[in-house]
Amino acid sequence: MGMFNWVDHRAPCRRCQYELTSKNWQTKDSVRPLWCEVVPLFEVENLYALCPQCGAWNQYTVQKHVTEVHNHGVNFGVVEVVKTIKYTLIRDEEEERRINADLDAAKKKP
Ligand SMILES: [Zn+2]
Repeated sequence: MGMFNWVDHRAPCRRCQYELTSKNWQTKDSVRPLWCEVVPLFEVENLYALCPQCGAWNQYTVQKHVTEVHNHGVNFGVVEVVKTIKYTLIRDEEEERRINADLDAAKKKP
């Protein structure tokens, strides 16, 4: 069993603009087992990437807001509801700063 899943997401590194992809973004929270599978962004609440180019830590929290609910009535005793959900990526700046400071300190050690 793996320790994380990959996340299907593309965003540039905050420090060097290197394009981070599903080969870089990881998560530990998914509805699926952590078997190093690529999971869609909407299944996760947190994602992070260690930039392979400059070594910077990038981290986001995914916020989900239900913006619309469409009630499609009742068919055969089943209530059909369609929800529109908006996903917003919030940068975890505090966490990034803390981890990057640790990484930089580790690099300076002989
Ligand atoms: Zn970078």
